[in-house]
Amino acid sequence: MPDVRVRFCPSPTGNPHVGMVRTALFNWAFARHMGGTFVFRIEDTDSARDSEESYEALLDSLRWLSLDWDEGPEVGGSYGPYRQSQRLDIYADVAARLLEAGHAYRCYCSAEELDAQRELARQQNRAPGYEGTCRDLTAAQVAAHEQQGRVPIVRFRMPDRDCTWVDLVRGEVTFGREHVPDYVLVRGNGEPLYTLVNPVDDALMRITHVLRGEDLLSSTPRQIALYEALAAIGVSDGTTPQFGHLPYVMGEGNRKLSKRDPESSLLMYRTQGYLPEALLNYLALLGWSMGDDQEFFSLDEMAQAFAIERVSANPARFDLKKCTAINGDWIRAITLDDLIGRIIPLLAAEGLVSTPPTAEQQSVLHAAVPLIQERLDTLTQAVGMLGFLLVGDARFVLDDDDARAVLGEDADEALAAAVTALESLPEWTTDAIQSALRSALVEGLGLKPKLAYGPVRVAITGRRVSPPLFESMEILGRETSLRRLRDAHSIR
Ligand code: GLU
Ligand code: ZN
Repeated sequence: MPDVRVRFCPSPTGNPHVGMVRTALFNWAFARHMGGTFVFRIEDTDSARDSEESYEALLDSLRWLSLDWDEGPEVGGSYGPYRQSQRLDIYADVAARLLEAGHAYRCYCSAEELDAQRELARQQNRAPGYEGTCRDLTAAQVAAHEQQGRVPIVRFRMPDRDCTWVDLVRGEVTFGREHVPDYVLVRGNGEPLYTLVNPVDDALMRITHVLRGEDLLSSTPRQIALYEALAAIGVSDGTTPQFGHLPYVMGEGNRKLSKRDPESSLLMYRTQGYLPEALLNYLALLGWSMGDDQEFFSLDEMAQAFAIERVSANPARFDLKKCTAINGDWIRAITLDDLIGRIIPLLAAEGLVSTPPTAEQQSVLHAAVPLIQERLDTLTQAVGMLGFLLVGDARFVLDDDDARAVLGEDADEALAAAVTALESLPEWTTDAIQSALRSALVEGLGLKPKLAYGPVRVAITGRRVSPPLFESMEILGRETSLRRLRDAHSIR
């Protein structure tokens, strides 16, 4: 068996989405498992829809996810270039050879004529599709069309037989001849279509396995036929890749997850502080399993265990809650230093630490992050939880009206008693703070703990929900803590 070569070949349109990442991941894992080659190719032949921005976003995304490619943009390889917009001569040449050998033909039908054909088929309850009008035009007919100034497109001549292949995921799949009409390879303006360029490059780049979404299932019989033609005219070495179609990813309400669903945008996961490890871990479960119910694993573990036989043909359900829970598991699984390192850029973006953080900010983070590691689902939550420890007085504000309400008139007694108890505390430690406040507020004033500590918490942290209070006060220091307690009086 030749070395495994797989490809990830997105079109640079719009923003990267999770369905695309799942496809990249499964190809990557298969390549790594087999010691094969992961080819990254950019399918940018649709100049009207492709953008440079989207191209950059694709590269950036794969890098963020650590899905490294062996051949492709920026790394090169023996089968380049890997951007199809730089391979147009190749496609023009292949199209010419297909025409010459009779595997393709020029079709002069106008858009209106094709519409009319489709409409008629619909009325007669036949499968709509090109009916082969131009398959066998005589030289005289061609001349007449040309004379009328008709601009031809190039169509592939499908062989007159059914197409069957053994899909790596779905088993044997058959498409009847009547469901696969002759299809367009090249537009009238000479632009080659996906239908041509994708199989041509898979052939030229010696791709051995095509793992892609089920939405492309109906392309496969066309592509297998084109492969055979490419072999016949000597463009390929005669091998056809094996195909495996990954199951649909379903969103809310039993319909396919769409690019327009907010939870499908990769960018959302980056900005909301998901770990790339966690996102990949979750996406791996969309149609694949480790085999022993293990749902928490690293990219390397996935690569080691990856087997196409365990890709399921059943649709997979995208569950943001589960994805977020796995993210929380990942946040707890990494080391403190690693976690701090990932939180710092988010804090810096909010102006809460300098870049790099000062020694003082570093020591606050080392003291405070362990207090919240257990509670985080996403990294961005850390910004809200830690902000009060890092902002200067000028930027310290109460979180919302509910927090403000906690500091109403009846809070005054507790706040004043807290100040008195803490001013004279000999040592500023969590335990000392806790017992001083307990004896002053709970025992001294007879307040229920909630009424005693609620105002203190809001005064110190600005929020009703915060990291553990006494630990936070120790980290914040005596002066700042007392200043905030005193200020809380004057807020009303
Ligand atoms: N450029 C195609 C897409 O993004 C590739 C499909 C395929 O894997 O064949 O849909
Ligand atoms: Zn035609």
